[in-house]
Amino acid sequence: MGRVVYKSLPDMSKARDRVSNPSVIFDKLEFSDFIKEYGKGKKFFIKTHGCQANVRDEEIMAGYLLLCGFCRTFEPSEADIAIINTCAVREGAEDKIYGEIGTFKANKKKNPNFILGVCGCMMQQEGVAEFLTKTYQHISLIFGTHNISRLIDLIEEHIKTKKVIVEVKSCAGDIIENLPSCRLDNFKASVNISYGCNKFCTYCIVPYTRGKERSRPIQEIINECKALVESGYKEITLLGQNVNSYGKDIPDGPNFAVLLEEIAKLGIPRLRFMTSHPWDFSDDMLQVIAKYPNIMKCIHLPVQSGSDNILKKMGRRYTSEEYLALVKKIKTTIPGVALTTDIIVGFPNESEEDFLGTLKVCEAVKYDQAFTFIYSPRKGTPAAAIKDDVTAETKHERFNRLIKLVEEHVVENSNKMIGNEYTVLVDGPSKKDSEILSGYTETSKMVNFKGPAYLKGCIVNVKITENHAFSMTGELLDDPIIVKAKELKTVIDKEPCVIEYLDLKNKISNDTDLKQIRSEILKIEKDLRTANSTKEIKDRLKELNEKYASHPLIINLSFVEEKVKDLMKTIVGELQ
Ligand code: SF4
Repeated sequence: MGRVVYKSLPDMSKARDRVSNPSVIFDKLEFSDFIKEYGKGKKFFIKTHGCQANVRDEEIMAGYLLLCGFCRTFEPSEADIAIINTCAVREGAEDKIYGEIGTFKANKKKNPNFILGVCGCMMQQEGVAEFLTKTYQHISLIFGTHNISRLIDLIEEHIKTKKVIVEVKSCAGDIIENLPSCRLDNFKASVNISYGCNKFCTYCIVPYTRGKERSRPIQEIINECKALVESGYKEITLLGQNVNSYGKDIPDGPNFAVLLEEIAKLGIPRLRFMTSHPWDFSDDMLQVIAKYPNIMKCIHLPVQSGSDNILKKMGRRYTSEEYLALVKKIKTTIPGVALTTDIIVGFPNESEEDFLGTLKVCEAVKYDQAFTFIYSPRKGTPAAAIKDDVTAETKHERFNRLIKLVEEHVVENSNKMIGNEYTVLVDGPSKKDSEILSGYTETSKMVNFKGPAYLKGCIVNVKITENHAFSMTGELLDDPIIVKAKELKTVIDKEPCVIEYLDLKNKISNDTDLKQIRSEILKIEKDLRTANSTKEIKDRLKELNEKYASHPLIINLSFVEEKVKDLMKTIVGELQ
């Protein structure tokens, strides 16, 4: 038997499956004693490339590893297990990943038991797993986007057999619930609402790498969001390749407007969603966005091209006229809305006229931000088979023209913000200057302003003073101490140890036995102040005090009190 065990390999024909129906599977989170023992004291490192769906996968993988006793490190050289979570959307990203795999040879040299796992969308492409196992001898595991909940079993199999384990399933996919999670942020969170995509835009690999569009049960999403609200999260982003089509795969199921409204009602301060396909954008959705102030007025609406000819070849299912009509409706229903987009330049055989159509749409919409890309063919997609007559030089020249125009609009929109006040969710001190805080407005505009680091995770009011196109400079309008004090009060009130402490205090003051002991102690102490004490009285007092201290409620209180003190120490530490 060879050194590699191919349990399953990707197969594009199976990846196209839209017939099988997904099952909802609740992970029991049961792990062997072997792996829990193995994990003790071992460190894992995860490097994620690509979109927010991949970041969320990282949080889930970290959740699995923590449950098995592994601990996290952000320093790759320290890792006993490293996982590279890959992206397949662009060619450049793949080259970067090959380089990164190479850097982990040093870990293997230092520690022969080092485990390197490679996963994510790139693994879902035919030929990649075989190439990796042949080229890199230090890879231990390769698994796909449908195999994340199998992570621990695959690690265990590798440890026991010393073989390279490859498990990449190509399928319509299931919905796994009760997933563990170790979130990377404690005030901003992403919540998957659906997986996969059925749109099959001709240039896109996602429908093949992530499977059939499948919506999570609404109650599971609500429960996850509710738990985040209760833990003090400030912002939730609902994630899906095409959030607008949420529920279409559930017979008589709720649609995205219903889901969005249910989540908005939970009271999260900021609610976002991405990505929206223009084709599925409903009027109901617009009404819900307009109605709830906590739904951020910022919509990412990928246009991809402004040419009807190219849109048709891309399989986008709308014309530029329909797209612009939707934009008009959005802007009328939600005044002040910010619109962002994705644009591909140089789709095969794009003519100058086609490209001018894209510029025309940009001119009409005046985006607040645009993620612009030069088309790169993805193997296995229909567009990759089209013979292209546009030179790389022309594509770059068009790309530069597009960026210039987008930047003009960004500057124009941002200039209108100067002198106005906005709420900003503080991400923390900026990388360049620890005294400068960085955060985002409701419309996703980055703002930098002076303020103390302890405001990280708080929502503050900021006045915009300068425009730097893709970021703004502002001035903090609030008293930071008051903001933090209010914030801490809310957090402290919700802390389980504080709730337990208050509950115990309440029980102690109402407990009949304890009441009686306390009143007897007080009476004796009062008598002792006015009369001479006898040995009997002193012994009685000692007996009562001991009885009081050994009461289960009082013992419990002293434990909880220690937890509350530790919490206070952490808070004071944070403020320093
Ligand atoms: S809707 Fe988005 S994810 Fe789906 S195929 Fe099109 S570009 Fe890809």
